[in-house]
Formats: sequence, C-alpha cells, structure tokens
Amino acid sequence: MSSLNYRLRAKKSEDNAPALREVRARKAIEVAPAVQALTPYIAVTSQAAIEARPNGETTFKLDWNESTIAPSPRVHEAILAHLSSHRDLNWYPQLGSTDLVDALQKYTGVSGEHILATNGSDDALQLICNTYLSEGDKVVAPVPTYNHFLVFAESRGADITRVCADTAFTSNIEGIRDAMSQDTRILYLVSPNNPTGVVLDPKDVEALCQDYPETLIILDEAYFEFSQVTGMPLVREYPNLIVTRTFSKAFGLASLRVGYLAADPRIIEGLSRIYNPKSVNALGQVAAVAALSDLDYLNDFLAEVRASKELLREFFASKNADAQITPANFVVVRVDNLPETLRALEARGVYVRDRSGYPGLKDCLRMSVGTVEQTEKLIERLAEVF
Ligand SMILES: *Cc1c(COP(=O)(O)O)cnc(C)c1O
Repeated sequence: MSSLNYRLRAKKSEDNAPALREVRARKAIEVAPAVQALTPYIAVTSQAAIEARPNGETTFKLDWNESTIAPSPRVHEAILAHLSSHRDLNWYPQLGSTDLVDALQKYTGVSGEHILATNGSDDALQLICNTYLSEGDKVVAPVPTYNHFLVFAESRGADITRVCADTAFTSNIEGIRDAMSQDTRILYLVSPNNPTGVVLDPKDVEALCQDYPETLIILDEAYFEFSQVTGMPLVREYPNLIVTRTFSKAFGLASLRVGYLAADPRIIEGLSRIYNPKSVNALGQVAAVAALSDLDYLNDFLAEVRASKELLREFFASKNADAQITPANFVVVRVDNLPETLRALEARGVYVRDRSGYPGLKDCLRMSVGTVEQTEKLIERLAEVF
C-alpha cells in the first residue's frame, strides 16, 4: 500500500470521526512503558521570586548550590572575543569540544582519550544510562542522593535498589556492599554527596571497583573542587569506573551547561555510539576553557567558601542548631518548624532548599555557601530567624 493511500485514508477517518481521532491520538501521545511511572520534574527555583523583589534589595539565592559569584573575568572576555571573531553563532560548535578536552587533560591529570565533554554532567549521567542500561537491569544507589540520576536510570526501565543508612550523614559502604551482587549493572556514588555532603574515601571506591568488576561504578564528583578528594586517578586503572564532573558549581558556569566524564577509553568508545559531538555549545566550550585558565580565581572562591563555612559553623553552634557544615558548598540544617523557617527566610530575601522529603532528612533545609562578605550579611538575616 502506498503511503499516499494511507494518508488519504487517515485523513478521511479524521474528518468523519473526531472520536476516533481522539483514540488514535491517545496512542500517539502515550509515553514509553518505562517512563509511565515517572512524574514530571517540577523545577522550583527562586530566580523569578528574586527578580520580582524591589530593585536594589540584597537577596540570597542559596537554593541550587550554584556559585554565588560571577565566573572568572576571563570567561566574559573569552565569550566576547568569540562573538567578535569569525566564528559567529551560525556555525556549529567545535565537534567533540577538543580544545576543552585538551585543557581538561592538565586539570584532571588523565589523558584526553579518557575524557568526554558533555552538556552539563546531567548529560553525562543520561548518556551513561542510555548506553549501558536495558529494561530490568539492576542499579544500586545509596540514598539520599542526586535524584536526576535515578530518573535517567528509571526511564531505561532499570530496577533500582535504594540503600538507606541509619543516618544520612555517613558513607555506609557496608550497606552498599550488602545491596550489591554480581549482576548489579550500575552503582551510582556521589562524593561529596548532594544533599548530605558525605565524602567517600577513594580507597573505599577503589575496593568497590576491585570487588565488583562486572559493575559499572559512577562516581559523581560535581562538588569535587570544594572537597579536593577525588577518585579521578583510578580511571586509569579500573575499566569499570566513570567519574563525572561539572562546571556548574565551583566554576560558576551553571547557565552554560558544561560537564565532562572520565573513564577507560573502551567506555569512551561505548558512549561515543550515542554521544552527540555537538552537545556542548560554543560559548560553553569557550567559557570552560577560559575558566580552566584561571585556577587562581577558582582557588580564591574555594577559600572564601571555606572561610564562610567556619562563620556558619560558629553561628549555628551559637544557636544550638543541628547543622551539618559539609565539605561541599552547602550546609544542611535541621529545624523544628520547617515551613515556618522557610517563610521567615524568604521574607528576608533568603532562598534555601527544602530537602525534608529526602530519606533521612526530615525537617532539613539545604543552603548554598558563598563568599565571606555575602555570608556576613546573610548571618545578620539568619540571626533574626534562628
Ligand atoms: C548539580 C549536580 C549535577 C548536575 O550538574 P550539571 O549542571 O548538569 O553539570 C550532577 N550531580 C550532582 C550531584 C549535582 O549536585
């Protein structure tokens, strides 16, 4: 039968029977079976609320763990230089982000054949799930964890075992081992963990790589720069380890969506079957290279965050508050009346994240940490609430 015939027939039945068209549309819009159990991600960010506040008022956007300051001035310069060069926006970006991968060799200490640049590290996590997970595959993830990964794994029809510890603020390696088996396809680890800040000892990660050689182990290091603890060198030795990182947090490039992963070249080859070499936009590539060229700026910001965390530690201790000052750029605070605390903070222009729905984090809020100057002002407002 010709496609013309099919089109004519389809058109005719549509004209005659809206009800039938409705039935057919239901078939068209039905999502894949593995996606049916998922609910849409409701992205709540304070951005709009902050923009709606009176001009000139100092506000604190501390809900998404972003850097609280602009990136290195070299980033702006590099973007402007790019825009005024012959490489204008009509051209696709450099394929495979090769300049960025070159720059990342020095920064990560692993060679370019181990590195893939991605559209944020979320893109890296999704690429891994799309490449390696089939319906029914077993995935282990200690929780609470970064939920996006769970969504990507679930959308592939994976069977996820969430490992709960007695307390959310320990690494719980024993619990992870209890949940593992030879047919665990992926183990997802985050260090420092979001939202608890728990850092994994690279020795523990190495032991897991050794003891579960059939399992692909993802080590999400989105907050590596703040902790300076890394499993990166292990990717040269263990073909079952993938480290993911991002420019969205310490480097302050969240709006441009740049991340990367590092792994054995055979994994890079596997991922390359699906990987889109255009996935990092041109301005993101240029910005990330410029950010890597100014590590003094990065280190200054890291020192600011460390000093700010000490101020917050003293403040919360003085209030007898149950606060975890994490090795990442956020703190987690348990409060008596969370809705009331959130309202009081927002009334003062302080936007934090409610994490009370996460396992082990009842009554907890998460707050990003910025510079000392910002933190001193912040503490004045916190003092009115705590
Ligand atoms: C923020 C975050 C990411 C995602 O960052 P991108 O902006 O997609 O690079 C990944 N993992 C964790 C644990 C995060 O907190």
